[in-house]
Amino acid sequence: MAYKTVNPYTNEVVKEYSDATPEQIENALSDAHNLYNQWKLEAPESRSKQLHEIADLMRQNSDELAKVMVTDMGKLYREAQGEVELCAIIADYFADHSADLLKPTKLETIATGVAQVKKHPLGPLLMVEPWNFPYYQIMRVFAPNFMVGNPMILKHAAITPGSALAFEKIVKESSAPDASLVNLFLNYDQVSDVIADPRIQGVALTGSERGGKSVAKAAGENLKKNTMELGGTDVFIVLDDADIETTAEIAWRARLYNAGQVCTSSKRFIVAANLYDQFVAKLKENFASVKPGDPMDNSTTLAPMSSKKAKEKIQSQVDEAIAKGANLAYGNEPIDSPGQFFQPTILTDIKPDNPAFSEEMFGPVAQVYKVDSDQEAIDLANTSDLGLGGIVFSGDQKRGEAVATKIETGMVFVNNFMVSLPELPFGGVKNSGYGREMSDLGLNAFVNEQLIVTTDKPNMDNLAGGLVATDPE
Ligand code: NAP
Repeated sequence: MAYKTVNPYTNEVVKEYSDATPEQIENALSDAHNLYNQWKLEAPESRSKQLHEIADLMRQNSDELAKVMVTDMGKLYREAQGEVELCAIIADYFADHSADLLKPTKLETIATGVAQVKKHPLGPLLMVEPWNFPYYQIMRVFAPNFMVGNPMILKHAAITPGSALAFEKIVKESSAPDASLVNLFLNYDQVSDVIADPRIQGVALTGSERGGKSVAKAAGENLKKNTMELGGTDVFIVLDDADIETTAEIAWRARLYNAGQVCTSSKRFIVAANLYDQFVAKLKENFASVKPGDPMDNSTTLAPMSSKKAKEKIQSQVDEAIAKGANLAYGNEPIDSPGQFFQPTILTDIKPDNPAFSEEMFGPVAQVYKVDSDQEAIDLANTSDLGLGGIVFSGDQKRGEAVATKIETGMVFVNNFMVSLPELPFGGVKNSGYGREMSDLGLNAFVNEQLIVTTDKPNMDNLAGGLVATDPE
């Protein structure tokens, strides 16, 4: 059975689940379709109270919800509680702002009559989500689309079935209709079948390039609108006038949060030559200070990786990087624990022909590069095929911003760590995907922006005019 919770701290197989049956799939599709037909007649504000209720239920059950994630994928309990709170913040935000953001917009036009764009739901969606933020990834799609009126079917990662069920249970416990979100343990063929079903109108995937390509292909073949939130090799650029103390304090956290398994983790540290030695020394010191241990223990600062497979993958990437000439500046020692821990590791002197130069390393491994100018930092940042996020540190905010705008990614923060909040759009360019989640952009991702032009009588004078029927005034 593919869907299985294996606690990565203890290696205990906690529970296994069978794939969805054809009957479960059909019920989910038909319930979603029926709910869409009901929701399309209702205004978004009619769902606001229910979404607030979901936020409240998440807060009330924060402890239990956090523990499910800790067991599923090893996240630190403290960070898991933060994730539950963030989900509640996202739900509250969309509950409060969606009705306004979805109001019709009037257009200035030379056409006869009044032109406006009205926003309608598209229909049921499939969301395919990864394990690294088991609830937050769901909420980013769920909250806006619940308000729009698109019922959702969830296909979660095979290693986080407990989290999928826990999220679904919260929705069921609220007064929202059960079909608002239905979890199905779908195998890959079933994912393709669901995408092909005429009742499904859109697909949102967060995951790897590999997963994204497969699901986008199925969506394309069936002409289904889709958004792709894929991987990143985000830079953390330190310009020569940056405050090294603040920068260093943020750098190690930006890499090690969630055991380094974040799409927007800083993965490539690009440091001005005058600060390079100091930066590497401080990064080593901070990496050496983390304490691996039980993720439920609040004194633990390094979580295990999400699975044995994830640890083996990062180990093989580090081994290959070193074999191909990278310098091991720190780490890569075994950690004495049966848990899936990987020691924070620093690699330097990575040349463009090294596979590590272009791969995403999804774990606690920092690559550090030395540069002699802002332009060299920008050029190095833009060598990546991925374009998700990035951070720039400079003593001069304007200079930081000038560098930030030249980085080919969807998001850049200057003099701060990256944060994800409902009012800020989230997403990337290049092979990091397309479309945006969160903010008004995410809210409008799966909306029928319908043009309505009304007049009390047509402009008969221009009847022969073909496409352009203008008002003589
Ligand atoms: P993944 O293997 O692509 O899995 C993500 C989801 O896609 C899972 O539910 C997975 O199911 C499913 N999937 C994969 N291949 C599929 C296929 N051929 N057909 C149908 N479903 C398929 O990604 P991951 O390695 O678990 O997640 C880490 C990646 O996600 C990293 O690259 C990370 O940067 C990226 N990520 C991006 C964002 C963002 O917002 N841009 C956020 C978080 C993570 P199974 O689990 O059953 O394989």
